[in-house]
This record gives sequence, C-alpha cells and structure tokens, in this order.
Amino acid sequence: MWVQGVCNLLATLSKPPWTKPLNWDLHMTIDGEGRIPFHLYVTYEDDPPCTSSQATLLSRFSQLSTELQLHVLDFCSAPTLYKMMYASMLRIEAAKRFWSDSDTYYLIKAYWLFGGGHSAYTCYDLSFMAYVQNVEIEYDLRSDDKIAPIRQDDVLELDYNKAREFWRTFRMRFPRAKKVVVNKNWESLTIRYQNDEPIACSLKVLVETCPINLEISVLVLVEVSSGGEKRTAPPIAKNWHRVLYRLADDGEWRKVTTSGFERKTVLMPPKRFYGPVGEFKGLLHEQEKIQLQLTGLGAVAIEALDRHYFGKEHPEPFHCPASGCDVYFEKAGQWTQHAAEAHGVEMFMARPEILPHALQHGFEERKNNLTKEVEARRRKFRKIFDDWNEEGGEKRRELERGWIHQLDTDEAWNTGVKGTDSELWERFNNMMDPTWSGY
Ligand SMILES: [Zn+2]
Repeated sequence: MWVQGVCNLLATLSKPPWTKPLNWDLHMTIDGEGRIPFHLYVTYEDDPPCTSSQATLLSRFSQLSTELQLHVLDFCSAPTLYKMMYASMLRIEAAKRFWSDSDTYYLIKAYWLFGGGHSAYTCYDLSFMAYVQNVEIEYDLRSDDKIAPIRQDDVLELDYNKAREFWRTFRMRFPRAKKVVVNKNWESLTIRYQNDEPIACSLKVLVETCPINLEISVLVLVEVSSGGEKRTAPPIAKNWHRVLYRLADDGEWRKVTTSGFERKTVLMPPKRFYGPVGEFKGLLHEQEKIQLQLTGLGAVAIEALDRHYFGKEHPEPFHCPASGCDVYFEKAGQWTQHAAEAHGVEMFMARPEILPHALQHGFEERKNNLTKEVEARRRKFRKIFDDWNEEGGEKRRELERGWIHQLDTDEAWNTGVKGTDSELWERFNNMMDPTWSGY
C-alpha cells in the first residue's frame, strides 16, 4: 500500500518548474490519487474571462461562419463548453465536445457495479451517469474476491459469469460509455498465479469479458527491476511505476504509457439527498468529500514548502523540517520526493508549527475550517443517533417507518431487495447502536 501511495502522490503533486498557482483545494484519496469534484471541474481555474467584454466577444463570435464557430469550440475548456451547453445556439456541438474530452474520466468504484449498481448505493446522479463517455473504474481490494477467489485448497477460481454480470450492470448505468480505464493501484495476492503476464489474471478476466464496443485499458502498478524474482527486501519507490496497458488482438499486453497516465479523474455530481435515507447518505457523502480535502491539504503543504524555498529568484537550500531527520535539499523537487517516501501527507497535519511562518497561517486556517465542517456533520449524525436512542422509542418508530417506506417505494433509493433485508438498513442500524463508536 505504501508504494502505491508514493507513486500516486508524486504523480498528483505538480513538479518544478511550477507553472500553475498552488491549489489549496486539492482533493486526494489516502492512496494519493487526485480527484476533482464536478463543480470544480466546470469552474475556471484562473480568473474567468473578463465579463465586461463578454457581450462584445459573443456578438463577434456569432458573426463568424458556422464552420469557424465549430473550430473555435474545439479549443474551448470544459467550463466554457459546459456553459455553452446550457445557453448557446451551439449547445449540441458544445455537449458533443464536453462529453468526449479524451483527458477526462468520470470515476466509479468497481464494488458498486459488482453489487448490481443499485441506486441506493451510489451518491452520484444517475441521469448524469447516462451521458458519460469516459469512465475510470476504481478496481478496489474487494474486486479480486469477486472474480478470482482463492479456494481453501489454494486453487484460483476464475468466475467469468461474475465478470459478464459486471459489464451488464455497467452498460445499464453507462449506456453511452466508449472508453474505460480500470485503475488498480495495489499488488494482488494472486500475483503468484500471474505467470509472466504483467496483469493479474482477475483483471484479465474483466478485460476479456468487456463488451466489444468499449475501448478498455488497465492502469496498474509495476515493479520495473524485479526481473520476476521474488522480492526479499522492502520495496523501493523509484522501482515502481504506474503503467497503462491494453490487450492486443493477438492476446499480448501492450504498454500504452510507460510511466504514469495523465488525466483528470472527476467525481460525478451528487444526486439529491432527501428523506431520511437521503439525509443519512448525504452526511456520509459529505464526510468522505471532506476527508479527500484533508488528505489533499497535507499533500499541498508538502508542495508549498518546495515552492517556498525554490520557487523564487534566489533558491534557498534547506534541511528536512521533520524532527530527527537531517536530509538536505539543494534542488527543487528533491524535498517532495523525500517527503513522499519518508514522511507522507500527514506530517504537517499533526505538527503545522514546523512549517515556515509564511505558510503556517494559510495552512492552519484551511485545516481549521475543514475540521469545523467535520464537526458540523458529526453533530448532525449525533442528532439522528440521539433521536433513535431516545427513551420511549417514538422518534425511533417514526425514523424506522420513514426509512422502510423510502427504501421500499423510492426508485432513487432502491437496494434491489426488500428494505428491511438491505445492507443499507443493516448499516444504519449498526451505526445507531449505542455500542457504535464512530462518532
Ligand atoms: Zn525527512
């Protein structure tokens, strides 16, 4: 897990010479993968185009020939295309370009598709999903057990039916999808069954059963200098790369990229959270989003320190600020690499005071704001918890009725089974139990 974190973290942070301003709103998973919430994806990163001249520009634009107008669209950013999709004569053409942007992938987790893709178990807007063309599937740790469980007698079983079912669900939810990248950022336990292939056999089953009208690639973690030998020493980060592969017609794996895969991984817009089920799921969703921002903040602080010393006219070499660590950095980028390998994103979260004074204030302010948001969500959870456990049980009965009614009748919260038999209901009950310690 450590190796993938380092690889992803280094790929997500920007490298010197930095050309963009520092982004304090970075969203990142604990595995170091960058995520862009949809509302930020369709917001201008820099200042929006000057509004006073917008009307003039628009009138000049409308005087161009249709052919030229379409040509201009090819150079428009996602925020501009998104705006044009709602307020322009060229909305159909703008939409075509918006959805087919080849650098943008919308993220979905494999376990949701393995579970049948029921609406109750996703926080994303299903109607949006129906338009998506490029999908990044997060191949999580549970996925191997679904299609390639290892039996008690140590035999690996490949379940092609489970994989076909996966794709049927995928097609139902993403009817317009054209390109898929399956992202697996961990090393399988099944590696010993892999023979000499670079891709785990479980993942190969998924690729082999993929519908023919989908272009599929897999992004995996590869150790470059192992030479197929069993590793005896701890892994070394620089020997690991994220490589994108495609299965060619001759059955061989072809490298599409040799190190990394530049793209924007976007979180689809959330659905509407209403009713008792929606309120609960909405809180879980927001907690998850804040966690991405907190992890992102730790990573941004690492990059900020590099820029602080090396992003100026007269670079200042410096010592690692971690106590007991005396590594000296003479060039931009060295610190980032060292921090990713030796300390991780948590280092400034626990001790912001080791940051230079100039960075400390901004960092602490953002950290405190995010912590306050976590607390606010926690209080809301606590309120539901208290209602549920109140003496007399009246509020509990009311909550129970509301939940079951919504699970059984509301299409947006369908679990695929009877409400009372669903995992969602079970999870809610567990979290409402007085022995639950998650608050
Ligand atoms: Zn250090």
